[in-house]
Amino acid sequence: MRGGFPPSHLLLRALCLLGCGLFGILPTNAQTNTVWLEGFEVHPTRILAKLKGGEQTANSTDLATLGSRVSCQYRTPRLVLLDEAVANAAAITTPGGSDERLTRLQTRLASLKSSGLFEYVEPDYIVKSDAEPTDQAFQEGYLWGLRNLGQNGGTAGADISATNAWDITTGSTNVIVAVIDTGVRYTHKDLASQMWVNPGEIPGNGVDDDDNGFIDDVHGINAISRSGDPMDDDDHGTHVSGTIGAAANDGNPHVGVAWQVRIMGCKFLGPFGGTTSDAIMCIDYAVEMGAKILNNSWGGGAFSFALFDSINNAGDAGVLFVAAAGNNGINNDLQPHYPSSYTSENIIAVAATDRNDQLADFSHYGLQSVDVGAPGVSIFSSISTSDTAYDFFDGTSMAAPHVSGVAALILSEYPTADLLS
Ligand code: CA
Repeated sequence: MRGGFPPSHLLLRALCLLGCGLFGILPTNAQTNTVWLEGFEVHPTRILAKLKGGEQTANSTDLATLGSRVSCQYRTPRLVLLDEAVANAAAITTPGGSDERLTRLQTRLASLKSSGLFEYVEPDYIVKSDAEPTDQAFQEGYLWGLRNLGQNGGTAGADISATNAWDITTGSTNVIVAVIDTGVRYTHKDLASQMWVNPGEIPGNGVDDDDNGFIDDVHGINAISRSGDPMDDDDHGTHVSGTIGAAANDGNPHVGVAWQVRIMGCKFLGPFGGTTSDAIMCIDYAVEMGAKILNNSWGGGAFSFALFDSINNAGDAGVLFVAAAGNNGINNDLQPHYPSSYTSENIIAVAATDRNDQLADFSHYGLQSVDVGAPGVSIFSSISTSDTAYDFFDGTSMAAPHVSGVAALILSEYPTADLLS
């Protein structure tokens, strides 16, 4: 062990040695090869499953006869990612028709379920960001969510009262917020000074200095490419990051809820969405590397035991999971939206409000399943097209980071606070 890092870092490496992280042999164009299964978009070859406890275990021969092999393990004990057995793997790179791949997936799901080896077996659901970009004029009343004086037809005071919070604290660089999203443009002028820097990694030396399974993961990871570069290629995560913690008083136009904070980029979403298994890899990484707040401005798919287990596993480590409630105007009490609708105690589900403190017309809601509303209409923040680019976005995706920012302020003022209670 080098650099005096805690033993938990070795755990992640051990997990990644089993096939994910640096040693992944899966194709990375997952989002373009999806299939539809029982009304949900899913990865064509990946399956998430949890082995039964006790003496019963699956070995590689067992799995091969079921058409599968273990390609990743996670922090949650006995949770595994199964891909097609090696003999079939070549078929993925020269995909046939969707029907053929769907049939193969269904066959493997059925064999694994009937094997008796697993607590649960489920497809790897595709999830999407919960944002709706808009093209509103740059000059229109920006940052009303932090301080609303009634500009642009808004209601004075319909904001998160950030200025009152800033009288008490503007944050702490000891607080790490992971943005589990499309990545972060960590070179953006309003974000570069706010990024988490992995203390155990020497930038650009091509070595996994801290033995955590990722080479040169200075600011986070890209779970899609299994690399240490969380650069954003789709704006969304950079926008979310700016709301949480764009730098203050630095000559650049934006300022986040938390002025002092460290933002960790965990990329798993691309332009077409991302997989549940890659989201789990991001959750595990963020928890291992010390993030106490995870911002999750995304959702979709059916109930996933694997994701639910992983969120609870983060909760066991005292990590808060802030989740966007969804953007289709639905009551989540009647029709759940995951991950925000999981019953995990560490989840805060966030609806979007407008500049008049009204629920945004697109926002999901739910007396039981949604916890709080936050600004999510015409939200100004940084985007990833350049180091000086900004735009206005709408969405519960934009509401969630206001809550993550507030959580960061609370944790900086009360470092020993239990964010889960
Ligand atoms: Ca590393």
